[in-house]
Amino acid sequence: MQNQTPSQAARATSTGVTPMISLVIPVYNEMEVLPLLFERVRKVMHDINLDYEMVMVDDGSKDASANYLIQQTQDDECVKAVILSRNFGKEAALSAGLEQALGEAIIVLDADLQNPPELIPEMLEQWRAGADIVAMKRRDREGESWVKKLGSFIYYRIMNRITGSMNIPEDTGDFRLMSRRSLDSLNRLPERNRYMKGLFAWVGYPTHVMEYDVADRAAGETKWNYFNLFGLAFEGITSFSVVPLRAMVLLGLVTAALGGFYGAWIVVEALVFGNDSAGFPTIIAMITFLGGVQLLSIGVLGEYVGKTYFEAKQRPLFIIQDVVQKSAQRANNHTPTAAEGTPVNVTTD
Ligand code: UDP
Ligand code: MG
Repeated sequence: MQNQTPSQAARATSTGVTPMISLVIPVYNEMEVLPLLFERVRKVMHDINLDYEMVMVDDGSKDASANYLIQQTQDDECVKAVILSRNFGKEAALSAGLEQALGEAIIVLDADLQNPPELIPEMLEQWRAGADIVAMKRRDREGESWVKKLGSFIYYRIMNRITGSMNIPEDTGDFRLMSRRSLDSLNRLPERNRYMKGLFAWVGYPTHVMEYDVADRAAGETKWNYFNLFGLAFEGITSFSVVPLRAMVLLGLVTAALGGFYGAWIVVEALVFGNDSAGFPTIIAMITFLGGVQLLSIGVLGEYVGKTYFEAKQRPLFIIQDVVQKSAQRANNHTPTAAEGTPVNVTTD
């Protein structure tokens, strides 16, 4: 190939042979869609004809999903089932899967087929052309309520403004392709706060944004409600910025200033105009002033406490109960990283 970029050259030498593709799929109570998911993914991967693995992370499903995944590993050595010890949430499940993935190109998909696996060849095309990250951008959000659409529109604007140079591509979810080196960088991030969309953007690397149409959920129900979404949005902002704390400081300043001005006005009124102020407004002025000063102090304190809190916990993000895969050569028997914290139990037969 002519004019290889450094990343392309590195890719060619790191394996020497056909690159292996890893598909990382978090699964939580998806029994209804799993058979169809396997069928569609296998068809696509069969057509591509490249060596691949499916890293299926069961995030503590309460239905038969885990058993189904384990059963799949028996029939197909491309399937690796990573069973978490309980439900840790999608972000953690995804981190678990990404640490287990061995491929040269790693693709993250939702289990519910909202991210059509048929787009994989196109994503690989972009990767071969030199993109380290192929971020998939939802073209239209039809079928979603206007509240969700408006919420996400405002959210990305705020997020990108306060995080500055990071630039989280709008309307992109976790559906994406990552090169080995960008995933290695991501896996090295030690933080417990896994706001994946933010972390993907944080590591940087040449990113290609590709548009796609979100499909409807093939079956089953979404696990999100507005409360979760708000939590995720807030988590996103707080893990990448201290703007909310600064806003508190600003609020304290403004309140204190207002209280101060009001107090000064009462004094001026009494001395200059000879109007004795009633006790009530004076008290209000004092309360506002002191309240403002207190908010300001708590804001400053909170800035430090918040940072220390997240770093001090040092708790693993997830606990892997079992990794099941048929072929012994493929099992990833590596030493756990700090973020994993737990020994990986590899079951093979
Ligand atoms: N998921 C997960 N753990 C959870 C919730 C969801 O692993 O606690 C998985 C789920 O099985 C699916 C993906 O994350 O593969 C996206 O979830 P969902 O479709 O419910 O979210 P939405 O597409 O509505 O944002
Ligand atoms: Mg979905």
